[in-house]
Amino acid sequence: MLGGGDAGRRAAVVAAATQPDFDEHGGRTLTADQIDLAATDAEIAVNDFQAMTFEMRGGRIFAGPAFLLAARHRMTGMNKDSITAALYVVATPIGNLGDISLRALDTLRSVDRVACEDTRHARHLLDHHGIRVATLALHQHNENEAATKLIHLLGEGKRIALISDAGTPGVSDPGARTVAAVRAAGFPVIPLPGANAAVTALSAAGLAAERFLFVGFLPAKVGARQTAIDALAAVDAALVFYEAPHRVMETIADLATRLEPQREIVIARELTKLFEQIVRLPLGEAMAWLQADANRQRGEFVLIVSAPPARDAAALDAASERVLAALLAELPVKQAAKLAAQITGQPKNALYARALALKNDAL
Ligand code: SAM
Repeated sequence: MLGGGDAGRRAAVVAAATQPDFDEHGGRTLTADQIDLAATDAEIAVNDFQAMTFEMRGGRIFAGPAFLLAARHRMTGMNKDSITAALYVVATPIGNLGDISLRALDTLRSVDRVACEDTRHARHLLDHHGIRVATLALHQHNENEAATKLIHLLGEGKRIALISDAGTPGVSDPGARTVAAVRAAGFPVIPLPGANAAVTALSAAGLAAERFLFVGFLPAKVGARQTAIDALAAVDAALVFYEAPHRVMETIADLATRLEPQREIVIARELTKLFEQIVRLPLGEAMAWLQADANRQRGEFVLIVSAPPARDAAALDAASERVLAALLAELPVKQAAKLAAQITGQPKNALYARALALKNDAL
């Protein structure tokens, strides 16, 4: 390794063992591969003369962070002037502040304004990386007006970054309306990929399903939530949900009672944070697991339910089963099957066969 960094000292150790060339001014020139680019995450004070210097100390070269930033900009072809007027949609960490790309940091340093959900929250991230840039509030309650303001700034040739409180803007977060408005106004929208809670949980879930459906938050009201789960029951894919701590119990209870109990659930809480926990268990056992320790109900959650078990062609989905059972409680087999077919759209023969089986089981 050619270099190691220390953001705390606002300087970066560049290369202990390198033999940098002397340039025509009697100074030293470093090639890009002699520089520890991660070290440029050190706090940058561009106005600080020290920041542009580098010096030899004890056989090691210490470079000021602005020097390293300039080096990285040369490597990536990016600098304050080279990035175009555009909306940069930048993913930010979902917990661990280190989970942000070098390109995202460069962009946040280079733009004229950062539009963010919560300016204090954004300031925490920006300060952590030594980034001084003006912010502008853009949240779900002012998104339309804020987008108009952004479009005005873009019209003046300004470069704007859009971030949310955590993860990828526009994913269960404000951003989609802004992006649509900026596109409609004819300005470029440039995405910078990065953290996202759903994909992070999927990466550690180990579920074989190639397909997944990102659902996000289920409705808060019980009836609407249960209807939404019923509508998802037959989807042939893993289902990915976001949930808040105060609703996680009721949501898991509804998932467990309305979906096949042998489906598996991955409960991923506090991802990338100190108390990160990822467990995978049969859906039917999830409530007991949560109740065993109050700490398991705390924090931020991603829930992933595995795809439904393979069924034979004649099998019915969970919602049709329920409709049929309800009708069968009141009507003869033939009539119940006929009505169930009209209500659910499932084949009458399959419903009739199932109704007969249910009747026989009940005898
Ligand atoms: N835009 C974000 C993304 O890309 O993942 C999602 C924002 S959404 C408002 C917040 C929800 O995402 C939380 O309620 C939780 O369900 C999930 N989430 C965010 N960070 C998380 C984390 N560190 N661990 C688990 N879930 C998280």
